[in-house]
Amino acid sequence: MQIEVRKLEGDEMEFVLSDSSPAFANSLRRAAMRDVPTMAVDEVEFKLNDSAMYDEIIAHRLAMVPLRTPSKGYALPSECGCREGRCSKCSVELALKQEGPGMVLTGSLKSSDPEVVPVSNSIPIVKLESGQQLDFVAIARLGLGKEHAKWQPGIVSYKYMPMLEFDWKLCDGCSECVKACPKEILKVVEKKVIVKDITLCNMCKACMEACPSKAVKVSGDPTKFLFKVESSGAHPPDQIILKAMEVLQNKFEEFSKLLKKL
Ligand SMILES: [Zn+2]
Repeated sequence: MQIEVRKLEGDEMEFVLSDSSPAFANSLRRAAMRDVPTMAVDEVEFKLNDSAMYDEIIAHRLAMVPLRTPSKGYALPSECGCREGRCSKCSVELALKQEGPGMVLTGSLKSSDPEVVPVSNSIPIVKLESGQQLDFVAIARLGLGKEHAKWQPGIVSYKYMPMLEFDWKLCDGCSECVKACPKEILKVVEKKVIVKDITLCNMCKACMEACPSKAVKVSGDPTKFLFKVESSGAHPPDQIILKAMEVLQNKFEEFSKLLKKL
């Protein structure tokens, strides 16, 4: 198995996983989206809410605000000794007190931990009219994406590495495939078709259909995968994958321990 990182910039990462299988690629994708502990608002205590929105709607909006999650230091409430999920080891308080007029933005949330703050300070929560007040404490906890989408650290997707095969005995360089490709990844040089960037191919097969001499064949390589990680900003994208690997490793270790007991 091999990994080649093609891009790692800000909240995005692209890598190629080769010498692998669809089962492994999908396990990695699922672990990354469902099993990586991530911070999100889980409970809100309202003291005052004069806004046009119900408490529940504001609470839901707060839950969907991505929060920066420190790589270490917090426990899942189910694994914390406190049981209530309100101690400093398993929860963070984000307080807000504001009077209208004006838009309430995520930047006004005062966190009890400077490392657990909204990814963006400019996400609108609710608009307050003149004299309206909002006063609450939101409690953020670690959770897993399989329980609720608010704890999903981002989107992880993959596609089979596309393969374009030309039968040079049949190809006469008519360039019909070049014109048909919606991604414009083909060009003809000296009557020979050249693929500019195979990773951009979305396997639509328009080139196959356009070719009058049936000289081109499109397929996907089931041993090579092009992964794309888009983090919500909660974790760096490479950390999402590393943590997903840890989760898989722990699951297999637990499984082998159970097997040995049989
Ligand atoms: Zn606790």
